[in-house]
Amino acid sequence: MRDIPKVELHLHLEGGAPPAFIRGLAKEKSVDLSGIFREDGGYTYRDFWHFLQVYEAATSVLTTPEDYARLTRAVLEESAANGVVYAETFLSPDFCGGGDVGAWRDYLTAIREAAEDMERSHGITLRGIVTCIRHFGPERSRPIAVCAAETAGDWLTGFGMAGDELKGKPGDFLWAFDCAREAGLRITVHAGEWGGAASVRDALDALNPERIGHGVQAIDDPALVDRLAEDGIVLECCPGSNVFLGVYKDWRSHPIERLRERGVKVTVSTDDPPFFGITMTSDYENLNRHFGWDEEIFAEVNRNALEAAFCDAATKDKIAKKLGASRA
Ligand SMILES: [Zn+2]
Repeated sequence: MRDIPKVELHLHLEGGAPPAFIRGLAKEKSVDLSGIFREDGGYTYRDFWHFLQVYEAATSVLTTPEDYARLTRAVLEESAANGVVYAETFLSPDFCGGGDVGAWRDYLTAIREAAEDMERSHGITLRGIVTCIRHFGPERSRPIAVCAAETAGDWLTGFGMAGDELKGKPGDFLWAFDCAREAGLRITVHAGEWGGAASVRDALDALNPERIGHGVQAIDDPALVDRLAEDGIVLECCPGSNVFLGVYKDWRSHPIERLRERGVKVTVSTDDPPFFGITMTSDYENLNRHFGWDEEIFAEVNRNALEAAFCDAATKDKIAKKLGASRA
């Protein structure tokens, strides 16, 4: 499973931070984070609310473009070790430069240069998607969209929305999404992780995204499932994340296979892997164990992911060659 060449579309850069990397950075900066690590070095938490605190504490030591360059290298090293050949990562100018375009440009340059180093040394390709944060509100999404629009190009290729999907309505963020779309950015929106099928429908109606982050709760609305299949909307499914956070109580009850059977284009990603104690490899192993996914199905899923990737055609051709061995 580790060696299958993989395409991962849904990965938060800070959420990919390996615990050893955060521990080292905290030590350099003389920040005491000992409370967030287990004895064996992984992140530790009691429940979902504690997880949010641990996440916030861990990411609090990431404060400069150089920190983000090092983070990018650490995250991609882990991804490459799990067979990922192409990834897209969510970046937030809220956390990188506080929404200021000049500061954001410095962060983005550092992240991009680190990613290009890793492409040369580890053969993994990365592209960036800016996300606004839903629970920060629509006003806040505007400068974030401006940051994205100002830096849109062949590396920064998408715009999306993450954060608490139970807060506000997708339509409240139309200005930001229009701004991003006009700059040529492709659109994906987090929905249907916590907010139910209605949240997916709202996101589609209001913002017309090509992809939905998660989207798995659409399974509860058969007409919506048909719409996803007919319109070719791609779901960035993160089953290991969903099971860890309790969106579904176990792997067997996760709807990824039912959605796939109904003709929805599903893909597999890890969201914030070290925080959930998962990797792309462990998710593939679970999909194989619980749903019998074999190389052929993984190849189909990775082709769907590459087709839905926000990079240019030349990059897709290059990645398709790497998927080659697993193409049907
Ligand atoms: Zn996410």
